Amino acid sequence: MGGARSSYLKRRLLRLQIGFLLSGGPGNSKAVSICLPQRVQVANDLDLESLAGSLVLTRTKEGILIQGALQVSLARECDRCLEAFDHAFELSVAELFASPSDANISVFSVDSNGEIDLAPLLREEVLIKESYRTVCRADCRGLSAETGINLNHEEESLVVAGPHFDGGEAIDPRLAILQQLLK
Ligand SMILES: [Zn+2]
Repeated sequence: MGGARSSYLKRRLLRLQIGFLLSGGPGNSKAVSICLPQRVQVANDLDLESLAGSLVLTRTKEGILIQGALQVSLARECDRCLEAFDHAFELSVAELFASPSDANISVFSVDSNGEIDLAPLLREEVLIKESYRTVCRADCRGLSAETGINLNHEEESLVVAGPHFDGGEAIDPRLAILQQLLK
C-alpha cells in the first residue's frame, strides 16, 4: 500500500523562494500562482486533496506580506450524516512573514535561505475553518434517529413508493384494504 503515499506531493512545493523580493526593497511585489491538483501533505496531521489560487507577495519594511485567495479541498466527514466527502472552500490569506524574524511582528518569518514556508500558515487557517460544523450538502438529511440509517440514501426508495407517500404521511396498507371494503 506504499503507492498511495508516494503520490503525495512533497511539502517542498509549499515553499516559495522570495530572496529576490527581499533584495528588491520595500514596495516591490510579485504575483505567484499555486496549482496543486493532487493530494499534498501540509503537516503530519493534514493532507489537502488539492490547492490552487494566486497570491501577491509584497516587500514591506518588516518583511514579506502575502495576500490572496486559495481554493482548498480536503476530505472530511459530514457533521450530519457522517459520510466522507471532499470539502471545498476558499481561504483568504493576508499574513506578514517577518524578515528578519521577529516574534513581535509575526509568528511567521522568512528563513535564512530566503524562503517562506506556506505549510504552517495553511495548517493554522485550514484547521480553524474545519473546526466549524460542515455538512456534505445544504440539504443533507442526516441519520435517522430511530434506525441510524443515512436518510440521504432513503430518498430514492421514498420516491419509488410514491403512491403510498402522500403529503408526508404514508397510508397504512391495512387501512387501504379497509377503505376498499367500505366502498
Ligand atoms: Zn451529510
